[in-house]
Amino acid sequence: MRIGLDLGGTKLEGIALDDDGTPLARRRVATPRHDYGATVEAMAGLVRDLEAETGRRGTVGVGMPGALSPATGLVKNANSTWLIGQPLDRDLSGLLERPVRFANDANCFALSEAVDGAAAGARVVFGVIVGTGTGGGIAVERKVLTGPNAIAGEWGHNPLPWPRAGEWPGPPCYCGRSGCIETFLSGPGLAADHERVTGVRLGGEQIAALADAGDAMAEATLRRYERRMARALASVINVVDPDVIVLGGGLSKLGRLYVNVPAQWARWVFSDRVDTRLTAPRHGDASGVRGAAWLWPAQEAI
Ligand SMILES: [Zn+2]
Repeated sequence: MRIGLDLGGTKLEGIALDDDGTPLARRRVATPRHDYGATVEAMAGLVRDLEAETGRRGTVGVGMPGALSPATGLVKNANSTWLIGQPLDRDLSGLLERPVRFANDANCFALSEAVDGAAAGARVVFGVIVGTGTGGGIAVERKVLTGPNAIAGEWGHNPLPWPRAGEWPGPPCYCGRSGCIETFLSGPGLAADHERVTGVRLGGEQIAALADAGDAMAEATLRRYERRMARALASVINVVDPDVIVLGGGLSKLGRLYVNVPAQWARWVFSDRVDTRLTAPRHGDASGVRGAAWLWPAQEAI
């Protein structure tokens, strides 16, 4: 049995998967915000509850914001700031008396969709989360790609490539730079772009609904968004050359992206043709917790 935990800023989710990926049990609790000790206890408690419910012991994988630094073993880059600098791996492994694997939540999303989701059977998968922020992760042959900095796939804080008039230096980003891909492709980035042009503050769903109803300004906003996503993903294709790119997060529900973005990205891809597929997720919001469980591949699961 595999247990996956998805450690979010507001909620902590757990799932127990049978060997074939069938969910056996699910739990969800509120994340104890700003309390590291309570957060670790809640994670261990969730594992114990899932094991009590199923009567089985499982491997444990965790998807989290940020990553564990390969150099120090401590949490870094997490927007749940009370985790930063903490030895989460050591503390949770100690409480559970077994090794625990950790990966960034976008990596878990990519892994979940690569194992038995929308990209099942694909060798190289780039997972993108376009929601509150913009993150990315890479799965190769059903394993998360990690590197010495634990940042593989983190392209949201690269600058928007091939900028057009008005896009450079771009909006300020919380990371301290300007014009990051996240400032254009995240949900707040889309809303801010629409507001800069129209003076009207709307959410992504409202902009999409207006465009559907024939509103020219909303349609223009979505076209700018699609062109920017095409350029941003073309730069990924040029480096990683994935078989499949899967979108997750709130904006992945915009069905037109799957037609309009690939229709444009060939202009910036260094190839005579582009056979990469862009697809919606299969597991949706459950991908994070499922991918965490799959951090233990089949032959290693208990
Ligand atoms: Zn940034």
